[in-house]
Amino acid sequence: MTRRISVFGATGSIGQNTLDLIRRDREAYRVVALTGGRNIGQLAADAREFGAEIAVTCHADCFAELRAGLAGTGIEVAAGSEAICEAAERPADWIMSAIVGAAGLAPGYHALQHGSTLALANKESLVTAGPLLMAEAARQNARILPVDSEHSAVFQALVGEDIAAVEKVIITASGGALRDWPTDRLQYATLADASAHPNWDMGQRITIDSASMFNKALELIETHEFFGIPPENIDTVIHPQSILHALVGFRDGAMMAHLGAPDMRHAIGYALNWPHRDHLPVDRIDLGQIATLDFRPADPARYPALALARDVMETGGHAGAVFNAAKEVALDHFLAGAIGFTDMAPVVADTMDAISREFCLADAINTLETVTETDHLARTRAAEQASLRQEKRA
Ligand code: NAD
Ligand code: MG
Repeated sequence: MTRRISVFGATGSIGQNTLDLIRRDREAYRVVALTGGRNIGQLAADAREFGAEIAVTCHADCFAELRAGLAGTGIEVAAGSEAICEAAERPADWIMSAIVGAAGLAPGYHALQHGSTLALANKESLVTAGPLLMAEAARQNARILPVDSEHSAVFQALVGEDIAAVEKVIITASGGALRDWPTDRLQYATLADASAHPNWDMGQRITIDSASMFNKALELIETHEFFGIPPENIDTVIHPQSILHALVGFRDGAMMAHLGAPDMRHAIGYALNWPHRDHLPVDRIDLGQIATLDFRPADPARYPALALARDVMETGGHAGAVFNAAKEVALDHFLAGAIGFTDMAPVVADTMDAISREFCLADAINTLETVTETDHLARTRAAEQASLRQEKRA
């Protein structure tokens, strides 16, 4: 039986890895929707190759180019954020959520509302609106399958286990591009310095977030929201080789670890084939050759994002949406060269402080609209904070 699948964020790193797996077993799938941004050449080529029903770009000004690229194919074409959400409502068995940033939330939510299985790479969805997403999945009896490598690892270590017996979840972190830099030099790190990830080949934004560990901060929150583990039982450890992705500790003292090559096709493939395991074209691990797996604690002074994540988990409510939006704005400013690498965490912290003076961050979020409003407000405040930092630098 062919499975109907859609890929949101198809032109990105996760999206392309997903299509790579689909391509290898072409007959098993029918592609419904593919979405992308400004890389219209890629989106059109993929839509043609996979015979998609519809291709959508999130940019209205790219519509004409996409339409021209798919002229004569019979493939429907659409543009804009609303069109992306509409595409998420098309019947599909499995949907990959691989848009980057808070923009990934609404399409995933719409997909769940229609009962589709959601393979979730977009960690921002759980950070900004975890309770909303999990409740919708439960209401529709729809599945969310984690695609972040650490969360896929925890998910796999929990197969057949009683979640009540879990004492600790530890997700590993590579430490990112700057892990061996002296802490006092981090303020001078350039975009190029922060962009060279030692192990993973990923999109630009998540690569910078790895260097600052904002990525790990998001993932701690993601662990809390998805598995319902209390914040004090979730931790991270630096593991430079990126071979061991997570550990689950149980109340009898046993720890289950998940090991795999640093290749996202492993976690994507697990979600695609779940609950089965099929062959995947990823490197096999040879422990004899690897010889050592190193671990060291993550230094809180070097990675202030981690303490912010603890605040978010403990506060709940709107805190995740504010944290994520502020992080995205801070990252935009760093990418634009307006603020320094070590300015990002203070921008986020100051934004959270500023907003907590306006309303109670712990208030529960009950609708998608509330998340959007909070996200917008946080972006405004974060831009103000970033400007202040920029002035200080000048
Ligand atoms: P990427 O930048 O390579 O690709 C992002 C995709 O989203 C592209 O298709 C782009 O066109 C689309 N997009 C960007 N802005 C959009 C918007 N406003 N509206 C609609 N579409 C938009 O990103 P990536 O590295 O593939 O990461 C995607 C998601 O997966 C992120 O949430 C990331 O944190 C998560 N993730 C990625 C990796 C990885 O190895 N790359 C690992 C774990 C989790
Ligand atoms: Mg990850």
